[in-house]
Amino acid sequence: MIESLYLHVPFCEDICAYCDFTRVKIHPILVEKYLLTLFDEIKAIPKHPMKTLYLGGGTPSALATEELEALFSSLEGYHDPSTEFTMEANPDSITGEKAELMVRYGVNRVSMGVQTFDADELALLNRTHTAQDIENAISTLHQAGIHNLSIDLIYGLPRQTLESWEATLRHAVSLDISHISLYSLTIEEHSEFGRKGMKQCDGDLEAAMYFKAVQVLGEQGFDRYEISSFTKDKPSRHNLAYWHYDEFYGLGPGATQMTDHRRIVKTTNLDRYAKGKTVGEITELSVDDEQFEFIMMGLRLTEGIDLDRFESRFHLRAEERFAQAILENVAKKRLVLTTNRLACTDEGLAMLNDVLLSFLPDTP
Ligand code: SF4
Repeated sequence: MIESLYLHVPFCEDICAYCDFTRVKIHPILVEKYLLTLFDEIKAIPKHPMKTLYLGGGTPSALATEELEALFSSLEGYHDPSTEFTMEANPDSITGEKAELMVRYGVNRVSMGVQTFDADELALLNRTHTAQDIENAISTLHQAGIHNLSIDLIYGLPRQTLESWEATLRHAVSLDISHISLYSLTIEEHSEFGRKGMKQCDGDLEAAMYFKAVQVLGEQGFDRYEISSFTKDKPSRHNLAYWHYDEFYGLGPGATQMTDHRRIVKTTNLDRYAKGKTVGEITELSVDDEQFEFIMMGLRLTEGIDLDRFESRFHLRAEERFAQAILENVAKKRLVLTTNRLACTDEGLAMLNDVLLSFLPDTP
């Protein structure tokens, strides 16, 4: 049974300078058309409470209260009190009214796009919130009864220094939150940064920023449980489903779904989507693809891969299937193999792409 459901809400109030996601500026007519197709997509999947439900975007909190309520109502039967029900939000679109609505319909986790606390960096990114908005949103959510809070931070920004990044990290750990996800800035061709010809941050500085985060967050009790995810005690159960390579539904424009040995990417074209032509691209996954992807996702976790799970899924041991790659990386001290686990060392995590190259199908 598939136990995770992702829904993509492709609307934002403003468009950030670095963004290349599937999103458009919010407009009530577009939202109405989008919701009609989304409701059909929801109805087409078997109704049972999911273990995890994730409303991502875009900015789900940008929807008007009535639109959000209609979306929440359509999800009844797909979650129960044990479901981790996450909604992404921007700090300046969280109001007391929306937070209460979220609680009434079962949302129990919020992932907030904070990015940085530095006013100049926020302006550069074209983010519309301030550091004060972030603190207000966190306290509004706690008051409404949502205590499982995560924030996203971004590093490697143009003009960002190691000092300003450390200040952002120290501000983050002073907040009443339980989870932090890090992203390094990629200059995407179709983003405003890409069009303006902005350059990628220097690789050494970017690496120094990452290790600074591991140090500062670790000292403050945020353990790194995945290469870019840190928590005091509440890992993202939804993201763990991806890293454990479980199947999941993905609904909404641009969403990815993995079911029945196929990866289905929904169309990113909102007009097509509104006409019910939801499928963009389908990739059939071979056994080799799935075995590699299982390793690729699992090695992101600091606890690594449960080798018995690999065997129960593929009916062979990963130690046999990938004997050469494992031997080679253990010898280089990039991987550690114990009775039932294969995990990266710190060095292996830092060089994960190189490690994975040796696991690729057909790599001699
Ligand atoms: S980064 Fe997030 S909030 Fe900003 S435009 Fe993209 S999807 Fe919207």
